[in-house]
Amino acid sequence: MKAARWYKAKDIRVEEVTEPKPGAGQVKIKVKWAGICGSDLHEYVAGPIFVPVKTPHPVSHDIAPIVMGHEFSGEVFDVGEGVTRVKAGDRVVVEPILSCGKCDACLHGKYNLCDDLGFHGLSGGGGGFAAYTTVGERWVHKMPEGLSFEQGALVEPAAVALHAVRLSSLKAGGTAAVFGAGPIGLLVVEALKVAGASAIHVVELSPQRGAKALELGATSIIDPSKENAAARIRELTPGGVDVAFEVTGVPAVLQQCIDATRYEGETLIVSIWEKEAAFQPNTVVLKEKSLKGTIAYRDVFPAVMNLMVQGYFSADKLVTKRIELDDIVTQGFDTLVAEKSQIKILVRAPD
Ligand SMILES: [Zn+2]
Ligand SMILES: [Zn+2]
Repeated sequence: MKAARWYKAKDIRVEEVTEPKPGAGQVKIKVKWAGICGSDLHEYVAGPIFVPVKTPHPVSHDIAPIVMGHEFSGEVFDVGEGVTRVKAGDRVVVEPILSCGKCDACLHGKYNLCDDLGFHGLSGGGGGFAAYTTVGERWVHKMPEGLSFEQGALVEPAAVALHAVRLSSLKAGGTAAVFGAGPIGLLVVEALKVAGASAIHVVELSPQRGAKALELGATSIIDPSKENAAARIRELTPGGVDVAFEVTGVPAVLQQCIDATRYEGETLIVSIWEKEAAFQPNTVVLKEKSLKGTIAYRDVFPAVMNLMVQGYFSADKLVTKRIELDDIVTQGFDTLVAEKSQIKILVRAPD
């Protein structure tokens, strides 16, 4: 079958690989649509980050080259021995988590905090940029009626955003700022609407992304090249917001997030970082503020899909391009690097 595999930074190849067979407890999925994620782009431009290159990943036992694609939907094609929750023909999305099941976090059900955390489609074991892939039954979620396969490919990134907002201290009627309106930042805006935020200030350089944030529910857009974003936020919401979401990974933005929050405010870091970021601890200390991180998601896929049925996280508003797997490098990765107006590019799986 055809699949897109990561060899090294700037070297992703669409090639023939062996079609996987479902082992005991595994589900074989015929992929329909798969989204290209910001972390895929990181692996392409500056990887490896999550891709195992020196030693095999402890859960998948795989090493580069690995099949990419962790945001995908598909149809169950076949099931291995002992699988009972799904059957051939079911429409599903995959929660692409690799976790050990044995560490302290796993034993407490917090599988996204696993010591050996990896992702199906980044850390081996197969992926969604392929005709087929196999995953453990536990990670397969049936899609509700009325949700398209394209919409299904957005469940994973929307889950990142919903988990972040659930983890934050925001309460209904509270105020928020979102620094960065890339795909995850935009989904955070929608998740904040779900949570009942009364003000959502979005800080974004790109006018196209700013306009999209407004369409999705932001209450104001601030261009940080034109004004001091934190000062403007404190003007719009006197004293500052309850929670600032850091979704850029740009070092200078961390201090701006802290400065945009009120006393006892919270800065939630959603980004994955390529380097260190500095901040003045007194800005946290003197106002009893807090700083927190969030990674991936846990136990939110069903909620995300139910919200999608209600119209949230709509593919119609977020998908800017649909391409074939053969064109994934030129029309997918290279396009995302070059065009800030792109939000989500979906890849159609080959037959
Ligand atoms: Zn992703
Ligand atoms: Zn674990």
